[in-house]
Amino acid sequence: MALLEIRDVVKTFGDFTAVNHVSLSVEAGEFFTLLGPSGCGKTTLLRMLAGFEQPDSGQILLDGQNVAGVPPEKRPVHTVFQSYALFPHMTVAQNIAFPLKMAKVSQADIKARVDEVLDDVRLTQFATRFPHELSGGQRQRVAIARALVNRPRLLLLDEPLSALDAKLREDMQIELINLQKEVGITFVYVTHDQGEALALSHRIAVMNKGEVAQLDVPETIYSYPNSRFVADFIGQCNLLDATVVGIDDGKMKLEIEGVGIAEALPVPGAKVGDKGTLTLRPEKIRLGATLPAGDGHEVHFKGKVHDCLFLGDVTIYIVELDNGTLVETMLPNAASGRARFFDDNDQVELAWRFDAGHFVLA
Ligand code: ATP
Repeated sequence: MALLEIRDVVKTFGDFTAVNHVSLSVEAGEFFTLLGPSGCGKTTLLRMLAGFEQPDSGQILLDGQNVAGVPPEKRPVHTVFQSYALFPHMTVAQNIAFPLKMAKVSQADIKARVDEVLDDVRLTQFATRFPHELSGGQRQRVAIARALVNRPRLLLLDEPLSALDAKLREDMQIELINLQKEVGITFVYVTHDQGEALALSHRIAVMNKGEVAQLDVPETIYSYPNSRFVADFIGQCNLLDATVVGIDDGKMKLEIEGVGIAEALPVPGAKVGDKGTLTLRPEKIRLGATLPAGDGHEVHFKGKVHDCLFLGDVTIYIVELDNGTLVETMLPNAASGRARFFDDNDQVELAWRFDAGHFVLA
């Protein structure tokens, strides 16, 4: 049985539907992420799990129990909000003890629980320090320890890292993964940052306009998006308008108008005549002045360099195809001392394996 089951949940505000027939389940121990653009309904869904909002219809089950009507403080969940908001005048141990004090737990039980949680998050030797005497990562651990002290079944995290700068954020992401692994508690994590979702999650539900657009492991969401929306939202992706002109022998032939034929893996439901999008990640494309035919890169197009962006580790080359479509490609700069392989207006060739691109109908 799943730890959390969301069944056909709908939430409206006036005549606006914020969450539209969402169903999904989360297993115990999972790091599960709700990812989507601003306004897609992810926070509303999280607030319904916490009990701050009630669904109009549908059910939320925790450990098989319907939580309808159960107030937030009686639910076996805890929410960690954007800033960790530790009390600056309290020590680490006092911060962690705070929820238990509020719940009028006995002094002896508070001490035992706090010691246990401090040990869980490896902060025992910091118990008497104040928040300003801790690193960012240690503060994050204190906030999570405080959330864990009531022994929730589920920890809800609402963009906890969004206020941090990029470098600190990356460090905190690594901390968070380790912490979740060590403590083994189930995380439902809300973010609009696709990189963060890919890096942290066991599974991701990509949301759009109140609905789950795709739910899968990060690798599948990235390599096999099920729609133009998901391909575009997750990382850099080339989106080439394509028409299915043939399907045989385990391959699909796609016409890219004004450019040529690209082969791709067949997609269930796609048939000759269908129009859709060939999605193709920049790093899957080979780029050269000339590329040999028949080296396993079945798709072969010509183009002209439109822009070069030197990023240090890689250079991005934007290549214009014959039909005017711009395709993003990249080359690593590691092996060569040169920063640039090509300049604007250079004639180049692009090639990729037939299964590197992924066709979507929607
Ligand atoms: P963000 O990343 O910006 O927080 P989100 O995906 O978390 O976005 P929600 O906060 O769930 O989005 O909001 C979804 C939609 O529902 C938004 O259009 C929002 O304006 C609307 N909404 C949320 N709460 C209310 C409310 N209490 N009353 C009216 N509309 C609301």
